[in-house]
Amino acid sequence: MENVKVDETIKETAASEPASDPFKAAVMPTYGRFDVIFDHGKGAMIWDTQGEAYLDFVSGVAVNALGHGNIEIAKVISEQAAKLMHISNLYWNEPQLKLAKTLIDLSEGVLQDVFFCNSGTEALEGAIKLARKYGKKRDAVKLAHLSHSFHGRTMGALSVTGQEKYQAPFKPLIPEVYEFPANDIEALKALDSSYCGILVEPIQGEGGVNSISDDYLKALRAKCDELDILLIFDEVQTGIGRLGTFYAFQSTSVKPDVVCLAKGLGCGFPIGAFVASKKASVLVAGDHGSTFGGNPLATAVALKGVELISSAAFLANVQEKSEKITQKLSALADGHIIKSVKGKGLLIGIELGIDCKSFNTVAFENKLLLIPAGENVIRVLPPLNVTDEEIGLFFEKLAVILESLKEEKNAK
Ligand SMILES: *Cc1c(COP(=O)(O)O)cnc(C)c1O
Repeated sequence: MENVKVDETIKETAASEPASDPFKAAVMPTYGRFDVIFDHGKGAMIWDTQGEAYLDFVSGVAVNALGHGNIEIAKVISEQAAKLMHISNLYWNEPQLKLAKTLIDLSEGVLQDVFFCNSGTEALEGAIKLARKYGKKRDAVKLAHLSHSFHGRTMGALSVTGQEKYQAPFKPLIPEVYEFPANDIEALKALDSSYCGILVEPIQGEGGVNSISDDYLKALRAKCDELDILLIFDEVQTGIGRLGTFYAFQSTSVKPDVVCLAKGLGCGFPIGAFVASKKASVLVAGDHGSTFGGNPLATAVALKGVELISSAAFLANVQEKSEKITQKLSALADGHIIKSVKGKGLLIGIELGIDCKSFNTVAFENKLLLIPAGENVIRVLPPLNVTDEEIGLFFEKLAVILESLKEEKNAK
């Protein structure tokens, strides 16, 4: 009965004023949000407090890898929460060990040990500290990152993010950070042994679904080997099956020294990690820590998700669904509204010929959730277990959206 009362209160408020007004008065305005309050979900469907259904192809920004309301994930959460949630890292817990071993095994000999944290930006902070310590022996402190990169919002991760708009209000950032133009092999000549690490997203998510070419990655790997620089892959958005391989690096022809993970790792539960190769494993007792990191609840949930996502059949299905969506989208490219389709796996970018915000507003009005990336790209990020019915609904909605955008254009 209590719940019903709460819902009715929200409905009454919504009739007289925007439902989000009380939220805006209490929460810092750091996000541009749609005026909607979500209540529950199932798979790629999500319902607001008014009972309206939306198709969620944002998935909490590539977080809800197995969709909303996944029974297997919910079961692990409730069972582990009742058993043991948190003990600190003064002691061992079995889920942490099992998850670490699974992540190492899945790297097929590339990675050797894991540090657990709680988010993407923390994974990057850890990787940056690790690189600085790695370079210490020869006073190599410089960090490199690529243009249009995104690595997170805390000071270290922000410092290696190649997007001035996020950095400007917070300068000075951490020193000795240098930007390299993405995919420019010639420019790699400027790397020398005063660098300790370089950060790369195998596909730049936030920056616009920009692919990093295999030739560039190979050239980068060769440079890093020659100069003893750590090659750090930020797989926060691209890892955990998103590209159709468990690790994103497994869909390239290079092997990184460090991999950062978060987003999809916990299937909606907050957890991050950085995983290091034997050579890069230089952190020792006292070097780094996180109170919540690797707690039995988060690691038990992630272990379940990783087991489900890493199966060959699951990953093959991601690739199959990717081809289906990408082919159909490409067929809709008209050179005006949809210019081209890019990305890999279920990280798909639609390059638009029209303003991204107006496209996304019309999508939202049609109860389809999508997320912009870069200047003129809209990201399509369905859950990795998206069904054929949900994909069908996506294209039904898209047809309506494209039609109303065309009408809008003709009316002008
Ligand atoms: C989202 C993201 C981050 C930051 O993750 P948070 O969990 O928001 O801190 C870092 N790197 C990449 C590539 C991301 O997509």
